[in-house]
Amino acid sequence: VSRLVLVLGDQLSPNLSALQKAEKDTDIIVMAEVADEASYVPHHPKKIAFIFAAMRKFADALRNNGWQVDYTKLDDPDNAGSITGELLRRAEQHDASGVIATEPGEWRLIEALQEMPLKLHMISDTRFIASHKEFEDWAEGRKELRMEWFYRDMRRKTGLLMDGDKPVEGKWNFDHDNRKPAPDDVDFHGPMQFTPDETVEEVLDLVEQRFGDNFGTLRPFWFATDTGQARRQLTHWIKHALPQFGDFQDAMLNDNRFLYHSIISFHINAGLLDPLEVCEQVEQAYKDGHAPINAAEGFIRQIIGWREYMRGIYFLEGPDYTSRNALKHSRTLPSFFWDADTKMNCVAKTVAQTRDEAYAHHIQRLMVTGNFALLAGIDPHEVHEWYLAVYADAYEWVEAPNVIGMSQFADGGIVGSKPYVSSGAYIDRMSDYCKHCEYKVKDKTGPEACPFNLLYWDFLIRHRERFSNNPRMGNMYRTWDRMDESRKEAVLSDARVVLKRLDLGESI
Ligand code: SF4
Repeated sequence: VSRLVLVLGDQLSPNLSALQKAEKDTDIIVMAEVADEASYVPHHPKKIAFIFAAMRKFADALRNNGWQVDYTKLDDPDNAGSITGELLRRAEQHDASGVIATEPGEWRLIEALQEMPLKLHMISDTRFIASHKEFEDWAEGRKELRMEWFYRDMRRKTGLLMDGDKPVEGKWNFDHDNRKPAPDDVDFHGPMQFTPDETVEEVLDLVEQRFGDNFGTLRPFWFATDTGQARRQLTHWIKHALPQFGDFQDAMLNDNRFLYHSIISFHINAGLLDPLEVCEQVEQAYKDGHAPINAAEGFIRQIIGWREYMRGIYFLEGPDYTSRNALKHSRTLPSFFWDADTKMNCVAKTVAQTRDEAYAHHIQRLMVTGNFALLAGIDPHEVHEWYLAVYADAYEWVEAPNVIGMSQFADGGIVGSKPYVSSGAYIDRMSDYCKHCEYKVKDKTGPEACPFNLLYWDFLIRHRERFSNNPRMGNMYRTWDRMDESRKEAVLSDARVVLKRLDLGESI
């Protein structure tokens, strides 16, 4: 009797646990492009195209390897429209005895699979470094779940950048060296670009037809869509950009969208690249003297630290995490998140880049759009759905803790010990956006004052009760308290004007 083996669009890894449990001779792999998954949020067309193209190529690779793959394209007239619908249909066709699945990365799908009237063998996703149990054990009894402590355990576990039981060069974290403002001249020309082949072109046509009205530009499409291409892109980046990556990883430039970033989160999260192998390659570049420690450590921390920690939080906190709203923010997401029609240059540039590339780097996401949404008191669930939709690397397990937790503080401080808020000064320091902006970053009040400057204080005052005793925020409140009364009044009343305009649906 055959069993079905489910492979989802973000499980495109030859070493997937479900494949390891399956029998090539008798079991049937089920892969399906389904409307439910393609539309639970209005995904960026590039994101959908990337996943479908990578799925089709992965299915071909499995077939070449001797597997039987039942693949359903989105426009197949028999397509049941959902993952569980497709499994039921295939089970009936093959009289299958049950389903083997690697645990999906979102509660929604886990629950749907569990409710299905088929025998289900769900196994852990072993592509991650920490299992759920390991993360739970680490979290157990801790007052604060700080990433840094977890990260050190992952360094010890993997042996990456370790010298026996000590970190190489005597320090765990070189983040202090990684906050340089952008250089005038970036000597890296961005990620390797790939001309769409026949498979990709077919998918692009389909996506254009079905999702052409979603936010986001589909063409030109140049993403790597299989492991071979993704590996070439990684090697190219290590060779030409990794050495500078650390120094400038928080910097932003008006006319350069990628700086020294690798743009491989899409591929790691979809399964085309193995996170540990990527880290080992980066470590090797450090050992060879090609990349400095702050670059290698900064990158590896993103993968075995932040990425694993976020997944741990998502599964530890449970399915209600995405509806948390600790600060009770309820303002609607402004329309300029969808059309980039705002005078705030940093926001306009970040949204336009997001529309064109389905990508923005972590500081653009955290300190421009995320910071603005938090300062303006936007409903965190709307913010969450926006991020989930617009970025090609966004899956709920990684996106929700980043947005609900780190960016919007809607989990009340599980991920972050303080909210990530800043006035325009931070953006000005880390970018040249302000030089091209109609607002004046140096103006603290008045019609030309940078909205970040106004909303920053309004946010702090609105939430004074919650944050004034936070030791990391005391300085901010002391600065406010030292301001003279007329200045304070002017700031708050100008902030109210900005918020009022948002409430009226006007652009700012
Ligand atoms: Fe952004 Fe303010 Fe700078 Fe304009 S002045 S780019 S709104 S931070």
